[in-house]
Amino acid sequence: MLFGRKKKNPIIINNKGAVEWKYTTCGYCSVGCSIEVGLNKEGKAVTTRGVGGADVNRGKLCVKGLTEAGIFEGNGRGLAPKMRDTIDDEFQITDWDTAFDRTAEEFKRIQAKYGRDSIGIVSTGQIFTEEFYTLGKLVRGLIGTNNYDGNTTLCMASAVSGYKRSFGSDGPPGCYDDFEHTECLMAFGSNLPEQHPIIYWRLKEA
Ligand code: SF4
Repeated sequence: MLFGRKKKNPIIINNKGAVEWKYTTCGYCSVGCSIEVGLNKEGKAVTTRGVGGADVNRGKLCVKGLTEAGIFEGNGRGLAPKMRDTIDDEFQITDWDTAFDRTAEEFKRIQAKYGRDSIGIVSTGQIFTEEFYTLGKLVRGLIGTNNYDGNTTLCMASAVSGYKRSFGSDGPPGCYDDFEHTECLMAFGSNLPEQHPIIYWRLKEA
């Protein structure tokens, strides 16, 4: 027995049956943590873990990232399309082919009557670069409307105006590594521990 050294409890990692890990980016918030999704032998996502060498999160994830695999089985998740004929009807579950056909027919009907640009599409900010690219092709190339914008543009418009006026840059002029070089950091209107926990952890470390 060695005096002065306590035997450490072994770290037990529960992989929840994951046999394969897929690298991706956590999509919950804008911090950009690198994450690996654990797939079981049926190819189903069962767990997640942080990527050790990642520049942003250095192996850590917040509780949202750690429980991200659970969203696939979450209560209330929409699993089938629903349709109704008029605004007064109740929504009824239908199959995907029927829902897509109806959507396509309605797009065509509206564009035939009011012109191609009568359809406008606003995308979410929570999709990846490849998905943005594909959606852009679908909207401009296939649906054929020029009215397409993303939440990323809309929600950042006020922030970008502020960056430009304050710092002369149309994006955040700093980066996470700056935390280690500053002696004073002020956060306005932000609850970092709750909303961007990994950034908060990096600040505390610095
Ligand atoms: S801070 Fe949490 S929610 Fe945001 S990207 Fe990282 S793990 Fe995901």
